Amino acid sequence: STPLIASPARTQAIINRYGLNVKKSLGQNFLTDINILEHIVQAAELSETDNVIEIGPGIGGLTEFLAQNSHHVLAFEIDEQLVPILGETLSQYDNITVLNQDILKANLPKVINENFEPNRPLKLVANLPYYITTPILMNVLQSGIHFDSITVMMQKEVADRLVAVPGTKAYGSLSIEVQYQTDAQVAFSVPRTAFIPQPNVDSAIVTMKKREPFNPAPFDERAFSKFVKGSFMHRRKSFWNNLCAIFGKDPDVKDRITNVLTKVKISPQIRAEKLTIEQFIELVNALHVEGL
Ligand code: SAM
Repeated sequence: STPLIASPARTQAIINRYGLNVKKSLGQNFLTDINILEHIVQAAELSETDNVIEIGPGIGGLTEFLAQNSHHVLAFEIDEQLVPILGETLSQYDNITVLNQDILKANLPKVINENFEPNRPLKLVANLPYYITTPILMNVLQSGIHFDSITVMMQKEVADRLVAVPGTKAYGSLSIEVQYQTDAQVAFSVPRTAFIPQPNVDSAIVTMKKREPFNPAPFDERAFSKFVKGSFMHRRKSFWNNLCAIFGKDPDVKDRITNVLTKVKISPQIRAEKLTIEQFIELVNALHVEGL
């Protein structure tokens, strides 16, 4: 029988046979460690009943594992040179659909509707293209689609930011965007030597599961998200300076900001990175009540 696509020898053979021009610019690093692939499947808690979305199947190394452990896989690959290759490497599986689409331009709800039977668990599993990790995660989280779990590989530094707690350097608007919606955990790290070709950074697998909504909730989620981003805009300045940058320096506005900070008992001299998600919610709601 044929060795797994992700085995180093087969991956190298596929690259050679097709004269594949591996594109750094598209974040093409193929995972070639079978043990790690097994761990990814476990971390995603895949089962035969699941529908799975994959972003960036590459030559199909992870896709093969997903197909073996789920009901149906829908994979988005931007690079058209890979589509015929995937057609061959994955030809023995009848439960994979490859779409030659840019994930950042795809209409996810529509594509999911057209390709998946309804009423099955939906999971996202991917070894992400690292140059667009953040926009992909933001799109996925803001799509309104319910994923039963999200299991994604990314650069280790970005993984650290997703799970960072208040008061640490890595904590910022990305941590809050993700933790507002999900319980995010680093499952395990992956050395750069696990890929062909090797990237210049180490990686980590992050799992995200929908969490209970915060209570109280922000009066408006988009306003909340804008407010959080604005609060971290100038990281080395005080929270007060960032608030003035968001709302303006009009004396009346400054008075209202001062009132709100007094009311919620937060010092204007604090750094945004010390504030918890609950505090950001309380603040955006109190500022809204003050007409800001
Ligand atoms: N899944 C394979 C693996 O684990 O070996 C390849 C992962 S590789 C890190 C990222 C893949 O994402 C590449 O195949 C790349 O062509 C694809 N990609 C890059 N940008 C994309 C985009 N905007 N939409 C869809 N796929 C993209």
